[in-house]
Amino acid sequence: MNKSLFLLGGSAWINLVNTTYISEKQIIDILIEPSSTLQWLEENNLLRESDFLTLENEQLLNSLIIELRSLRNLIKMILDDLEQQGKLSLNVTEQLKRLTKQVKVSLTIDSESDKLKLVPEGITTRDHVLYMIIYSVIQTLDTIPTHRIRNCEHPECRLSFVDTSKSGKRRWCSMELCGNRQKAAEFYARKKKK
Ligand SMILES: [Zn+2]
Repeated sequence: MNKSLFLLGGSAWINLVNTTYISEKQIIDILIEPSSTLQWLEENNLLRESDFLTLENEQLLNSLIIELRSLRNLIKMILDDLEQQGKLSLNVTEQLKRLTKQVKVSLTIDSESDKLKLVPEGITTRDHVLYMIIYSVIQTLDTIPTHRIRNCEHPECRLSFVDTSKSGKRRWCSMELCGNRQKAAEFYARKKKK
């Protein structure tokens, strides 16, 4: 599996919605396999050391996968809202609030770098993963203009991304996946016309 795909959205919540994608006209779902889900979580830095141990328990991992799928649905609704009206609807905001209420965090002091940092972390693995993803939603909405949260322009691609480029003109989920194949298609289309 192409690991860059796990991260190309630019933020954990966008990367979560990108866990379903189209490859060679088939819909692939990263969250279908426990092993690829774990990889995805790891690549997105959503797990602490203790969480890796916790998720060795198959049952806990499976229930986390169910939570991730349902959060992914909510994120799809968030993206639809942004696309259609540039902001979140009341309904989606309420759902996000309801979910957030169930997430329990505690405060800890991170002393690994020179400075001490006060950081919230989830009580359980589930709390931690959900907290991190919800945090990423709020962080993006708070700091990035909504028109910079977009879909790849390739007609056969459904990946989303946060455009953090200077010019704000990013068109593709990635050059390797879509930019090049689109350019090749355009090239052949032009050639055919001649
Ligand atoms: Zn694409």
